[in-house]
Amino acid sequence: EKYGKYVNNDKQKSVKTINDKANRATVDQVLDPRTIRFVKKLFSNGLITEMNGTISTGKEANVYHCYNKDTNIEYALKIYKTSILVFKDRSRYIANEYRFQNNTSTNPRKMIKLWAEKEFRNLNRLYANNIPCPKPIELKSHALLMEYLTKGNHEPSPKLKDYDFKNLDQIIFFYHQMIIYMRRMFQECKLVHADLSEYNSIIHNGKLYIIDVSQSVEPEHPMSLDFLRMDIKNINDFFTKKGLKDIAIISEKSIFQF
Ligand code: ADP
Ligand code: MN
Repeated sequence: EKYGKYVNNDKQKSVKTINDKANRATVDQVLDPRTIRFVKKLFSNGLITEMNGTISTGKEANVYHCYNKDTNIEYALKIYKTSILVFKDRSRYIANEYRFQNNTSTNPRKMIKLWAEKEFRNLNRLYANNIPCPKPIELKSHALLMEYLTKGNHEPSPKLKDYDFKNLDQIIFFYHQMIIYMRRMFQECKLVHADLSEYNSIIHNGKLYIIDVSQSVEPEHPMSLDFLRMDIKNINDFFTKKGLKDIAIISEKSIFQF
């Protein structure tokens, strides 16, 4: 209950703590008994001692606030939803990707496990290459434990979309930082984000952090450059709206070439 008031969704029903004793209620509709079994492993191996309310509820996943009272460290736990419908439009990301060639399963349980694995792997790749992102901690099936990006007081750091920019210089600073991370993701991590936007980046400790990388693809993917162009367009659209038009916007073509 104690973090419930900090979570930023209006469905405030899911602030129960689950622990070893309580196998009863689901913390949220996505926590079916099977999911609870995986979450419990995070408790039994001592990584977390509390699971709290949702930081975010999405179409494909919910993100929960977790805590370890022994180390006083907070975590974000992303749990993919088992619903089959929302995964239908993901096929184009998988198409022809060699990492998935032997995994063209349509079983929704296997699918979400694959997406979580993919996000965990991609996050590890970003993290290993020093691209700011939540530190990946542990994966249990479709439940991914990672560092919690917090601005303090248990509140999540703001998405780029919600960030209160000080001035134009700061907007330009983050615009350039985003472009540089896109380039480094491509050149050093060999990844195109493929869903990059002001919703999937967070401003934390004065830096831009990249999140939500389950759909990211390698340059070998037949659509990787289309996804890259889309990412660039999203970023340019956002920063154009923020007032950089005619001041600092770099053409999509130049960014793509860069
Ligand atoms: P999806 O968009 O698939 O629902 P995301 O990974 O984008 O899932 O997470 C949803 C939201 O949860 C993000 O926009 C962000 O606000 C919040 N969030 C996700 N991961 C973290 C984290 N590690 N720390 C703080 N907030 C997070
Ligand atoms: Mn997202």
